[in-house]
Amino acid sequence: MTGFREKVRAWLAANVPGDEELATAKRFQAALHDAGLAGITWPTEYGGQGLTAAEQQIFDQEAAHYDLPTSVFRIGMGMCGPTILDLGTAGQKARYIRPLLRGEEIWCQLFSEPGAGSDVASLQTRAVRDGDSWVVNGQKVWTTVAHLADFGALLARTDPDVPKHQGLTMFLIDMHAPGVTVRPLTDMTGRAPFNEVYFADLRLPAGAVLGQVGGGWPAAVTMLGHERVSIGGFVRIRHDPLAHANLAETARRYGRDRDPVVRVELAKLYAAERALALFNARLRQEAEAGSPPGARGSVAKLAGAQLRQQAVAVAGLIAGPHAIAWDPDDAAGDELALAINQTPSSSIAGGTDQIQRTIIGDRILGLPREPVADRDVPFRELRVGTQRPA
Ligand SMILES: Cc1cc2nc3c(=O)[nH]c(=O)nc-3n(C[C@H](O)[C@H](O)[C@H](O)COP(=O)(O)OP(=O)(O)OC[C@H]3O[C@@H](n4cnc5c(N)ncnc54)[C@H](O)[C@@H]3O)c2cc1C
Repeated sequence: MTGFREKVRAWLAANVPGDEELATAKRFQAALHDAGLAGITWPTEYGGQGLTAAEQQIFDQEAAHYDLPTSVFRIGMGMCGPTILDLGTAGQKARYIRPLLRGEEIWCQLFSEPGAGSDVASLQTRAVRDGDSWVVNGQKVWTTVAHLADFGALLARTDPDVPKHQGLTMFLIDMHAPGVTVRPLTDMTGRAPFNEVYFADLRLPAGAVLGQVGGGWPAAVTMLGHERVSIGGFVRIRHDPLAHANLAETARRYGRDRDPVVRVELAKLYAAERALALFNARLRQEAEAGSPPGARGSVAKLAGAQLRQQAVAVAGLIAGPHAIAWDPDDAAGDELALAINQTPSSSIAGGTDQIQRTIIGDRILGLPREPVADRDVPFRELRVGTQRPA
């Protein structure tokens, strides 16, 4: 393991670029793959390295000291790729996994709709069988990186005559195909990380189905499990203004580092960061040993969102009014404010905190399940989204 750590350390020191431009990110990801450091635990036959969670952990520890330009690949690496490995045919794995690992193809996740977010099983985008193909019509929203994506994992309704969870199918779609329109959405930071996506008679081959026709819900649950671990595990140490080490530096800059309250809160933040990092490492090791995270992914996701909120509270304590009104030439103040403004989204993206708590209550703590009135009702008869049955 020492040799692997030394290799990772030396490679990162020599190769991490200074910007996050798309072309740079793609070059970096290809070089990472060439160096044997992309898809560390993924099977070698599809371009992975076939190593263990221990090597992945070493890579994560070393990479945490850099800002890798890899965020554009996060949905592919963290969610779509692992789900294709879990559920895809040999042909799908052979087609998609290697280019994904090399950063040649960018992926997005097409689940949420204007009327279906927390209750994503109520989605209305339809895929209708037409001979050997499927025809898709409908709309998605909040689709991260869809404006850059080459492929997407689409959840669509294929059978409205069965209860809502049973009539869904997951498809792997080409985002450049005729019938796909992507419109960026600006969030409260002024950036446009996500999009609306419209489908107008998008035609898909039969081979676009991931898993089983009608098996879209278990496929979505599989992907959301990967998403929650991937989000919860996203703790950047070096350049994240909300990481405890950088907040300690901010405290020094503002002369607040001798304040006992600030010191206690920074120590608590450090403890929470470490606990989450260890929990995520454990989930990854268990997954590697054949025990997927299941509902415990919700614990990681919720803890990650809470950690961000805790860090924002400490940032406010340290920076006071500078947290929202900083000197125009204070680059660090600008970054801190951006991180603070982005934090609320971590309690929404990938399933809200309330939904994670319900999952934890139902599936881990064994509390009585939430009452569900529509479990056995055909989707066609439900009043959901814009659907109003006669
Ligand atoms: C930054 C960001 C990136 C995203 N990226 C993607 C993406 O790439 N792909 C994608 O498909 N989606 C994406 N989403 C969408 C995200 O999954 C949804 O926003 C989320 O699931 C919540 O759905 P909603 O916004 O429709 O809110 P709603 O479901 O309308 O919820 C509104 C409020 O009601 C609460 N609520 C709803 N139902 C319950 C319940 N049963 N019990 C208790 N409280 C409840 C919620 O917790 C929330 O506070 C992204 C969102 C964000 C913020």
